[in-house]
Amino acid sequence: MITREQMQRARDWAWQAAKKSGLVLKDVEQDQIEVADFGLSRLDQVGAQILTLEANAWVSIKVLILSPWQLEPQHRHPPCAAEGYPGKTEVLRCWWGRLFHYHEGLETGSPQARPSEEDRDYLTVWNETVLRPADQLTLAPNTWHWFQAGPEGAVVWTISSRATEAVDQWMDPRIRRTTVIAS
Ligand code: ZN
Repeated sequence: MITREQMQRARDWAWQAAKKSGLVLKDVEQDQIEVADFGLSRLDQVGAQILTLEANAWVSIKVLILSPWQLEPQHRHPPCAAEGYPGKTEVLRCWWGRLFHYHEGLETGSPQARPSEEDRDYLTVWNETVLRPADQLTLAPNTWHWFQAGPEGAVVWTISSRATEAVDQWMDPRIRRTTVIAS
């Protein structure tokens, strides 16, 4: 849960960061930035500001704007057998700042992420890729991954096949994808 004031502050920060990064956006898009705390009520540590530019049955185009050291918890995008959908294939392309990304594979020694102790138990994949501007990564469906912004924050494009937020699986059972705004 976050307060309306926290949400507004995060949105304002994200808007300024996005513009500073050189993204060209319409003014109306400021109010479309979603502030997600993943239900943990620690927005500075765990969360994301997400501008969705397109989401249809085939593609999803979003910009993630992360504050310094903000972490998106470990998750995967499962298949939907009934529809013959293999799950979301996700492309992350760093536009500004730095993103420390972790996925399945050989564990990286001395990783650069700094998750809080409270989150560490639910981060089980540690194959690190550091994304700097113009670095890009393609994630296969249904593979575990998580990421954390570097010290300046990060602006990252995420271009994928159909988004599956309602069925995405999170390693941490405390996660709730819908953010509750305190009234
Ligand atoms: Zn993902």
